[in-house]
Amino acid sequence: MIKSILFAVILIAAVLFFLYSIKNFLSYVKLGKSENRLNNIKQRLINTLNIAFLQTKLFRSRLAGFLHFCIYWGFLTLSLVILESIFEGFFPNFSFYFIGKLYSVMTLTQDFFGALVFFVVLFSLARRYIATPKRLQVGAASRNDAVLILLMILFIMVTMFGANAEKILLGFSHGYRPISNFIAGIIGGSGSHTVFEINWWGHILIVLGFLNYLPYSKHFHVLSSVPNTFLSNFKIDKKNVLKPINFEDETLEQYGAKDIEDLSWKQLLDGYTCTECGRCTEVCPANLTGKLLNPKKIVTQIRKRTMAKGPLVVAGIEKHPELDKTLVHDYITQEELWACTTCGACVEECPVMIDHVTSIVEMRRNLTMMESAFPPELNTVFKNLENNESPWAFPPEQRNDWIDEFTEEMSKEGKDLKLKKMSNAGTADGLDVLFWVGCAGAFDNRYKNVTKSFAKIMNNAGITFGVLGSEEKCNGDTARRLGNEFLAQQFIQQNIETFKKYNIKKVVTACPHCLHSLKNEYSQFGMELEVTHHSEFISKLISEGKIKPEKKTEQKYTYHDSCYLGRYNNIYDSPRTTLLTVPGLEIVEMERSRDKGFCCGAGGGRMFMEETVGKRVNVERTEEALNTGATTIASACPFCMTMLTDGIKDKEKTDEVKIKDIAEIIAESL
Ligand code: SF4
Ligand code: SF4
Repeated sequence: MIKSILFAVILIAAVLFFLYSIKNFLSYVKLGKSENRLNNIKQRLINTLNIAFLQTKLFRSRLAGFLHFCIYWGFLTLSLVILESIFEGFFPNFSFYFIGKLYSVMTLTQDFFGALVFFVVLFSLARRYIATPKRLQVGAASRNDAVLILLMILFIMVTMFGANAEKILLGFSHGYRPISNFIAGIIGGSGSHTVFEINWWGHILIVLGFLNYLPYSKHFHVLSSVPNTFLSNFKIDKKNVLKPINFEDETLEQYGAKDIEDLSWKQLLDGYTCTECGRCTEVCPANLTGKLLNPKKIVTQIRKRTMAKGPLVVAGIEKHPELDKTLVHDYITQEELWACTTCGACVEECPVMIDHVTSIVEMRRNLTMMESAFPPELNTVFKNLENNESPWAFPPEQRNDWIDEFTEEMSKEGKDLKLKKMSNAGTADGLDVLFWVGCAGAFDNRYKNVTKSFAKIMNNAGITFGVLGSEEKCNGDTARRLGNEFLAQQFIQQNIETFKKYNIKKVVTACPHCLHSLKNEYSQFGMELEVTHHSEFISKLISEGKIKPEKKTEQKYTYHDSCYLGRYNNIYDSPRTTLLTVPGLEIVEMERSRDKGFCCGAGGGRMFMEETVGKRVNVERTEEALNTGATTIASACPFCMTMLTDGIKDKEKTDEVKIKDIAEIIAESL
């Protein structure tokens, strides 16, 4: 009786304190901006099943994935033991024995998972001190937190087996428990009620302590990772799209995020869900090449700031040194934010569906639009965009130059010209597709050859294609990723007007950045387009027999995945299958390829910024490409081509190794 009363008091106190912590947590997260994350419930449930319960993303690293899977499922199975123990607190000798034969299955599973969790925790503890993987090498506070949690789990298992063994010795155990029986055999004797009580109380107190420690620890992810996965927009929104700012909303005090109130509640929840596993940092090109940026830190700083500022705001406190600080500058520096290439590798790896990139760009938006705080070289880029409608200083009329050159080449070769300038055609009706050339495709001397090669492929295949010439403007991606949403939206609106003017519906482009913008982000502004990357387009022309690569090559090739083509748009196969249609062509994969591909260093506007800290990202990638022994590096993006060309120059390999776009490789083989 005394035990039941004492237990009831402890249990009620523990549950009340837990609910109080959760209420506080919710009030802090609610400080973020509102956002609807309850659409498409069916897809959300599928995501939760796959990613949270089956832990599919964790298996990207097999050993760590297996260890976590065991602990997670072990714990879920063992929750029934905890429930049984709680009932035992009120009704001594309580057992779920009444469920019949199923009880033996339950006890056998508990024994099995209990032992598995015990050994996995021992192994995980050892990994914190011996042969620690780089991603788990964290500061003392973080490591102590992880060790404390692991020790708690270990003692929960020890006390569970201790109580079970004593029950067996005392003769009131039910079900089939081979491991507990084995332990009872080792202990021997006729059992002790005192030892049973010590184990039982130890077990239940650590469980309740664990529950109440969670909201204050990085292991809060035990509670928040399932909701965070459910609330993520994976397969609901298009991948890696930025949310537009409504500049007509006069209530907006800030553009972008300066502090936690400017982020959405989901971005704050991301902060609380980070497990500090370091998987994002382990793949971050900026971090790996010595820059200050650490995506894990970006997320954990959002949590730290929310935990520091949230209680003050919720309590209505107006004067406090913490309130004089801001997330950007005091918790996250400009230097970190500008180092991001928006490659999306962090997002791809995160097992709990955290989206680092949108938070980083939100903060860049504030720096750019509210503070004009950006690297000085971006002044020229923004000026060029404003005056010349492209990041470069070329006048818009020069967008017609390659068209004139191509027209002349076709005429010299005596071929019918399939290219139509939209200003002459008047409408896209009757054309097969519009070729969106992009700024690099029109202005960059080296890349103009790619534009002409692709135009030649289409011409040979009998495709009638339109081009906008000087009516085409930058798609807006560079300005958008650099935080200049205002400028980006101007381009988007102007391009949409042009698309509407000519009734353009189908677009093909060689630039993955143009592809991503036109295909996935223009719809936010009311323009739905069917956009294809040239690698897919060429692949289709070959499979339809409209062109046939015939000239043989003896060269060894390696293919570099563009982040905006691969991770952003899941286009991994068509560039490879297209290349493999060239007779004799062999592809050697780089160590990091496909969805684990390593960025060239140009995304997110980094193409136009100086890179003065650490090793250059493009050099790191070029070295990886050179290690394959390939003599040609194939790319499918103008930025990647520029970065890899610079990398080859840096390694003094220009005579031995060539960089070619897949359009050039196919055109040469026709
Ligand atoms: S997007 Fe790429 S560069 Fe930016 S933080 Fe993530 S991994 Fe690092
Ligand atoms: S953000 Fe995701 S991948 Fe990065 S440390 Fe946190 S949980 Fe791990």
